[in-house]
Amino acid sequence: MHNNLNNLQEIIKEIHSKDNNQNKSVKIIAVSKTFSMEKIKPLIESGHIHFGENKVQEAQTKWQDVIIKNKNIKLHMLGKLQTNKVKYAVELFDYIHSVDSIKLVKKIDTEQKKINKNIKLFIQVNIDNEEQKNGIGINEIETFHNHIVNEMKMNVIGLMCIPSINSNLDIAFDKMKKMNVKLGLSELSMGMSSDYIKAIKFGSTFVRIGSKIFGKRN
Ligand SMILES: *Cc1c(COP(=O)(O)O)cnc(C)c1O
Repeated sequence: MHNNLNNLQEIIKEIHSKDNNQNKSVKIIAVSKTFSMEKIKPLIESGHIHFGENKVQEAQTKWQDVIIKNKNIKLHMLGKLQTNKVKYAVELFDYIHSVDSIKLVKKIDTEQKKINKNIKLFIQVNIDNEEQKNGIGINEIETFHNHIVNEMKMNVIGLMCIPSINSNLDIAFDKMKKMNVKLGLSELSMGMSSDYIKAIKFGSTFVRIGSKIFGKRN
């Protein structure tokens, strides 16, 4: 696992050295969902910082004690977040990538004020306009963004997407990049094990890698 991560870091360095436009650092979020702490530990010991989960309860069980002992770790919530889990998510996570409704943002705001936290947020974009997909529609992104940033004063750092399996990634990632620039956002959460190289070429700053680091999930 440690070697897999090193390989990824080398590949990313290589992309940067060939592309002069690509001057931003890319952070690897090791997506540890479904994997036990035993599997994750070698990465923590190697000093890796960013880890991602997609379920609040699983993340609590695995990480609650670990983050107390490893204060530098940053946890990323990547999955659909139900409002009744926000209280726990806010206690545990440093980043939430799945912001997709005003109702959810209000709840995050309320809960994080109670414990004096200021979570870094990504707005999830339904980039391929899929019928049953989470995320804000492309045409509503600007209004949604402006509302939660200007009125609600939330700490939005970027946009996030999970393209559909049939997506034309060049088109999808390019749209993401352009929207991010238009909104003046500095971070971009896109790219997984199968498409992270392309995502980085389109300016991704947080790639979310699971199976390429930990192996196949059951
Ligand atoms: C599981 C997951 C990933 C990682 O997927 P891999 O293909 O294993 O790299 C990335 N992003 C989200 C939102 C996920 O749920």
